[in-house]
Amino acid sequence: MTSPTLAERRLETYRRLLTISQTLTSTLDLLTLLEVIVNAARDLTDTEATSILLLDQKTGQLYFEAVTGSKSEEIRRVVVPPTSLAGWVARVGEVQIINDVQKDDRFYAQSDERTGFQTRSLIAVPMKVKERIIGVLEAINPVDGRTFDDDDVDVLTTLSAQAAIAIENARLFQQSDLISEMVHELRTPLTSIVAYSELLLRQAVEPEMAQEFIETIYQEALNLSNMTNAFLELSRLQSGRVRFQMAPVAIGELIEEIAALLRPQLDRLNLTFNVQLPDPPIRVIGDRERLRQVIVNLASNAIKYNRPNGSVLIKVTPPDAGQYVTLSVSDTGRGIPAKDLPHIFEKFYRVADSEGYAQGTGLGLNIVRQIVEAHGSHVEVDSEVDRGTTFRFTLKAAR
Ligand code: ADP
Repeated sequence: MTSPTLAERRLETYRRLLTISQTLTSTLDLLTLLEVIVNAARDLTDTEATSILLLDQKTGQLYFEAVTGSKSEEIRRVVVPPTSLAGWVARVGEVQIINDVQKDDRFYAQSDERTGFQTRSLIAVPMKVKERIIGVLEAINPVDGRTFDDDDVDVLTTLSAQAAIAIENARLFQQSDLISEMVHELRTPLTSIVAYSELLLRQAVEPEMAQEFIETIYQEALNLSNMTNAFLELSRLQSGRVRFQMAPVAIGELIEEIAALLRPQLDRLNLTFNVQLPDPPIRVIGDRERLRQVIVNLASNAIKYNRPNGSVLIKVTPPDAGQYVTLSVSDTGRGIPAKDLPHIFEKFYRVADSEGYAQGTGLGLNIVRQIVEAHGSHVEVDSEVDRGTTFRFTLKAAR
């Protein structure tokens, strides 16, 4: 059997690209989609490994989101520096080939340490939607020891253009999912407002009863108003259009500002409020307005789900050896049952009997988590039923 000619090989490659592109357009789950793309890229280029790095629209950071092979989980979410080759491609938007990475100081060796691969040669292609760069597609080490060439550039550029559109579609789909969930949530308070107003308009209602209806309408309207604010925030965060303004933040000052704001609520429930701050005062790296939202949401919950005469504590530890501080918000409230704990950060999730306890949207903690994660951190929670709850996360101290 004669080996295929160059033309035949190219034709075969384009046939495969076509099939892949059909799969891409029909996959709306982002992670599945990324996996399809990296595997397709590896097959098409016949390389040892391929990966996708995505650009975080909030922080501008470039991080690994999918890698072929078994080390995928270890490298997911690992941030690469702007000075790396992928960082360069994400900034400049041009394809780069390096056939000997040891000779290029943009090569970021730490990725190899994580994956166990030994990168010898590398190709990196920008992923663009219109002219906006959303990430980078990389392939390393052709298996037959050849060097990367123009054919690889062509194939990966075509694949990456289709992949970028598919990724954008998957993100938009997530967004439209959110919209239908939101509309669904708005229905409950709206239905009750409409029903009670109709009763008031149509029937002669006893004044006492009428007062009660008006009270309900007012509460539901307040609820709607809170929901619309939370929806707006959530869809902004999810769209990836917001950029976080990272800068040193005087965290003690911010907490004192928030405390003043919450004072009336605290007094109404006769709650004791304590703040513990490091001395001397420190600054942390973060987006001041978003951090405010995080602390307000956590503190509002600590108040809402507390017991009368209970207490709330906001604490910031001094920086540890790695220059991280821990911010925690604790309460002496009703606590969260163990079976609910894994779910409380999900959108719209509320502990079953919260409804009768305090008004809420079930979105506060989801917003908290998204913001804290954009700060490169993670929210932890400890809770004991009838004893209280503590939420905590770390922040990097500013020099
Ligand atoms: P909500 O608007 O309902 O307060 P969140 O997303 O802020 O929504 O919280 C989700 C659920 O987690 C709440 O409905 C409540 O059941 C539970 N929860 C949150 N914080 C606390 C807390 N400090 N103590 C007890 N339960 C809490």
